[in-house]
Amino acid sequence: MTVQRQTKQLQAIRDTFEQAGRPLSIDELHGLASKELDSLGLRTVYRAVRRLQEDGVIASVSALGQSDRYELESIAAKHHHHFHCKACDRFFDIHGCPGGLNKLIPKGFKLENHDLTLSGLCVSCAS
Ligand SMILES: [Zn+2]
Ligand SMILES: [Zn+2]
Repeated sequence: MTVQRQTKQLQAIRDTFEQAGRPLSIDELHGLASKELDSLGLRTVYRAVRRLQEDGVIASVSALGQSDRYELESIAAKHHHHFHCKACDRFFDIHGCPGGLNKLIPKGFKLENHDLTLSGLCVSCAS
């Protein structure tokens, strides 16, 4: 594979994240990025995701019991949460945080961080 082609693929994956504006799975990335760059194989997407992770451009989203999702590091760096739509299996960003979680933990425990994923139906699935 030429360096030029590889650069184009990495750029296409990056653009896909920016346009989607939400966390994406490998399958979603593959589906969306193939529209921009035809003949983009699933293995290429895996490879590009690994490379972009190593370069610190994207980060994986921790979501219990779900297949891996990825988001831009610039988004991941800011504290936020996610909403998972049970019908279409898409993840969306939630920018608020309920806070006050120290009230919930047992006495003497020390809270260091938290993950929060709300679930239900997204706007298109709920209507
Ligand atoms: Zn949905
Ligand atoms: Zn929070």
